[in-house]
Amino acid sequence: MTKFEALGLEQSLLDAVTDLGFENPSEVQEKAIPILLENETDLVALAQTGTGKTAAFGFPLIQKIDSSSRTTQGLILSPTRELCLQITNELKLYSKYIKGLNTVAIYGGASISEQAKQIKRGAQIVVATPGRMKDMIGRGIVDISKIDYCILDEADEMLNMGFYEDIKDILSNTPDEKFTWLFSATMPKEVATIAKKFMHHPKEITVGDKNAGATTVQHEYYVVGGRDRYPTLKRLADTNPDIFSVVFCRTKRDTQKVAEKLIEDGYNAGALHGDLSQNQRDLVMNAFRKKQIQMLVATDVAARGIDVDDITHVINYQLPDEIETYTHRSGRTGRAGKSGISMVIVTRSELRKIKSIEGKIKQKFIAKKIPTGMEICEIQLYHLASKIRDTQINEEVANYLPAINDVLQGIDRDELIKKIISVEFSRFYNYYNKAKDLNTVDTDGHGERKRSKGERGEASSNGSVRYFINVGEKDDYDWMSLKDFLKDTLSLGRDDVYRVDVKDSFSFFNTDAEHTELILQTFSDFKVDGRFVNVEVSKNPGGSGRSGRDRSRGGGKDRDRSRGKRRDRKSSHGKSSHSGKRRSKKRDGFF
Ligand code: ADP
Ligand code: MG
Repeated sequence: MTKFEALGLEQSLLDAVTDLGFENPSEVQEKAIPILLENETDLVALAQTGTGKTAAFGFPLIQKIDSSSRTTQGLILSPTRELCLQITNELKLYSKYIKGLNTVAIYGGASISEQAKQIKRGAQIVVATPGRMKDMIGRGIVDISKIDYCILDEADEMLNMGFYEDIKDILSNTPDEKFTWLFSATMPKEVATIAKKFMHHPKEITVGDKNAGATTVQHEYYVVGGRDRYPTLKRLADTNPDIFSVVFCRTKRDTQKVAEKLIEDGYNAGALHGDLSQNQRDLVMNAFRKKQIQMLVATDVAARGIDVDDITHVINYQLPDEIETYTHRSGRTGRAGKSGISMVIVTRSELRKIKSIEGKIKQKFIAKKIPTGMEICEIQLYHLASKIRDTQINEEVANYLPAINDVLQGIDRDELIKKIISVEFSRFYNYYNKAKDLNTVDTDGHGERKRSKGERGEASSNGSVRYFINVGEKDDYDWMSLKDFLKDTLSLGRDDVYRVDVKDSFSFFNTDAEHTELILQTFSDFKVDGRFVNVEVSKNPGGSGRSGRDRSRGGGKDRDRSRGKRRDRKSSHGKSSHSGKRRSKKRDGFF
């Protein structure tokens, strides 16, 4: 007997399982399927994204449905149109050997009459997004008054997207005797409320940690002058060359404007807002999913549909009016157990909003400084060097090597490296070389930003030293673990290592000058897991902040905007809502 047989699945489903190539049930399936098959019960199941929740409710649902009756017996609510289609496709595969079983998808942005036609033909299972479902109930197109099972899939996401009222309305059209199965990755308060309100003594199963994911987002803010939001956004992107982000603006107009400017400046950006057609939005979302777009500029409403898991950064170009909305925004990152960063660009007058948000999310923000031009140059430089190191060699090049050697004759290794790096780096350097400090100067004389966790304000100017170290996220470090590693390796105190800034394959940190000798000595011949860990004093002495602080803010001559045309590959269609199609490679155009 296979493990799937042992769960109590009937032959037609087992055959489908074989076709699907599933060998063993996942944990959530192993737990949920027998409960649902053997009992008529409400159920709350918590399991991370990607753990096979669809089959966990899909198999029992299909087995319990009477396919000889055309009545709609099962309703699945899901947050986005993409998920809705995904679930529908999966269910169709599961039920391929069951004659007469129809599953129909109902979602916004597509022809309502086509969906109505499919419903009319008889659909035992309806998979729907809440908005469209409510609409169709209102028009009397779909009848869910006789359903036996209602499934709330990705319940946390649905509530995140503000579907609470819609769900409530929809449930009020279903019979009291039905059974409700709620599947969710996390269990925030809102989900608990739904469970309490709409379910009767639900059985509960949990796979992994209950609230895993919720604490993996780090919140940061950057204080800037109101007119420096855009150049700040660019710097945040340039400091994170591998960024894959959603940038939130308050209005459709700002969303479009910011996206257009980014595209014009050579970034892989796209806009997502309600003034675009469904077709345009699909194009943008597809490009984003394929990572052809690295910065998706979106309004809150339009971003409801985003179900992408590995977003590295959420950038709040402007803070939302409602604190709630901030939670929804930052929840776009740090999903599926990954860590993420939510950055907020604020003006001084908005700082109290940060306080209110901290209260709401019960997490502290880290006050960050906007990187100076030179710091960005340095990051880009190391990034470029690691990129060259990690580039897979195209063997075709070998054929041309003699000819290339002819051209490059007489150039030694160091010179060659300098030239290769300069091809890309000079553009960056020329742009940022004299760029001003964007950090707002504290006029009341209290000095720099306040100190915060893991960070420390600038050390007294007689000697903070910034270092480069050749380990980063790729080696599984984040700022906390790298700080711990340094502190332990060097036997230094908690506050002796600060401004730890972890990038993909390298990082930066500061110490006071008195420790420099110890550090350089310790890391002169130091291996971890057989690999040399190398530390150098960074050419950029204070990192962000000090070098720029003394510079005059006035003039405005060297504002980033006035140099906006630095990038070669200026998009020829600045008005278009996205540029993804043109740039096939992820990082193309980022230098
Ligand atoms: P979740 O809803 O928990 O995020 P899904 O139900 O979308 O996860 O499943 C994620 C992927 O895993 C899908 O591609 C699905 O086909 C696959 N999958 C589900 N169950 C199994 C299994 N038992 N064995 C192998 N793959 C599975
Ligand atoms: Mg799912």
